[in-house]
Amino acid sequence: MASDDDFYVCFRGVRGSIPCPGARTARYGGNTSCLEIRCGGELLILDGGTGIRPLGQAVADDGPLDADVFFTHTHLDHICGWPYFTSLLDPENSLTVWAGHLLPKHTIGGVLNGLLTEPFAPVNADRVRARMTYRDFKAGETLEPRAGVTVRTAPLNHPQGATAYRVEFGGKSICYLTDTEHVPGAPDENILGLIDGADVVIYDSTYTDEEFPAHVNWGHSTWQEGVRLCDAAGAKTFVVFHHDPDHDDEFMDRVAADVEKMRPGSVVAREGTTLRP
Ligand SMILES: [Zn+2]
Ligand SMILES: [Zn+2]
Repeated sequence: MASDDDFYVCFRGVRGSIPCPGARTARYGGNTSCLEIRCGGELLILDGGTGIRPLGQAVADDGPLDADVFFTHTHLDHICGWPYFTSLLDPENSLTVWAGHLLPKHTIGGVLNGLLTEPFAPVNADRVRARMTYRDFKAGETLEPRAGVTVRTAPLNHPQGATAYRVEFGGKSICYLTDTEHVPGAPDENILGLIDGADVVIYDSTYTDEEFPAHVNWGHSTWQEGVRLCDAAGAKTFVVFHHDPDHDDEFMDRVAADVEKMRPGSVVAREGTTLRP
């Protein structure tokens, strides 16, 4: 159990687009986006990719769960673990679910319950027993989900929108920015504002700068752009995240070596690892 002031992020899923399990991705991990952030005794979950399944298993024996779940957006790779998040089935649990990209056309409750519908999923919405609260907001708002926890947000540049988060606790900050596409030579002012002086910045690093021209308008960015943004904003630790499923462990080792040269102390996210600001 976390101590009263412990603040950390555990990477439960680090992959973008589609899960890619197997020998070639065993070291960095094949599950899609899901972060576990602990703020003292509070649990924040960011995104519900397939990494939310091992997270649900890890907390199953901790007693009743009272947590906040924040979605960056609802593309499949960020919600496909939701039907397999067993914490939904326990009536002792309480979950508050947040999203900042859906209004006015959709709501997060409507989208997630639409996924838990035949013929898509074995667990239908009427089998959810946890006490659920759904909170739609507009990216850019500041949220206070728990005493002592502030969550700042900003809109990202992604098809159908996405929300970036900055979680602040005990004077430290962890930022989570995925999925987003940059415009070369024009740093995103929304992002620079959100990550200003941040301790940890987890950023959509799907591609390298060399790969990027072939993927314009796909909604993603590069690790080099993440470095440039962190340098410009005076952020501390940069984290490479949302790895392309085609980038195997050897490729990611090369990224790790290259990012270390450009910005020493940077981290390439690996499934199951923990980082403290
Ligand atoms: Zn994604
Ligand atoms: Zn997306």
